[in-house]
Amino acid sequence: MGAAPGVTPVHRIPLRIHTAKSELTEADLGPILAELNSIWFSQAGICFEIDVTSSETDLTDGFDFRYTSGQIPGASGSNGVYMSAHSIWSIDRPRLNDVMTPVTHPTARTTAHELGHALGLAHENPPPSNDCASPCHCVELGDDCDEYLMRSGTKGFHLSKPEIEIARTRATRVALADQTTSQCAAPVFMP
Ligand SMILES: [Zn+2]
Repeated sequence: MGAAPGVTPVHRIPLRIHTAKSELTEADLGPILAELNSIWFSQAGICFEIDVTSSETDLTDGFDFRYTSGQIPGASGSNGVYMSAHSIWSIDRPRLNDVMTPVTHPTARTTAHELGHALGLAHENPPPSNDCASPCHCVELGDDCDEYLMRSGTKGFHLSKPEIEIARTRATRVALADQTTSQCAAPVFMP
């Protein structure tokens, strides 16, 4: 897992994963969180310094993310939701449409997608949707929107150059001040 050439410095963002409502085990979460960091680090030079806890106590910086084995409070039927920096959610097993170049773990995709919203990104749902600032980056660049991380409901994970700029700019507000470290540590599982 290397950062894309030129995408430095690496922005490291504290991320607490809350599992009180989840049935995902440490064995499930290891590869999910590794893929989450790979999606962001390899393309955008952003990674997450993760701790995993059953506690409901939020961080005072960074982002808080919750998995649930049931429905997301206030958003039943959704795979994931971004409400605020300290209220970001995914169901344990999101249901996503396949694409040419899919993620390995749908849960990693939904996690990475919702964190994309936290980093200032809008949906890349092509017309007739009006979710995009006009037009969508994927349409403007002639890409398959389904392959994009910010497309709703697919296994795509691509980030375009303009999205990377937006996310990196936002990341500087929440990232750790130390920019000498070139990657994030492995997730810390709290007892
Ligand atoms: Zn979304």
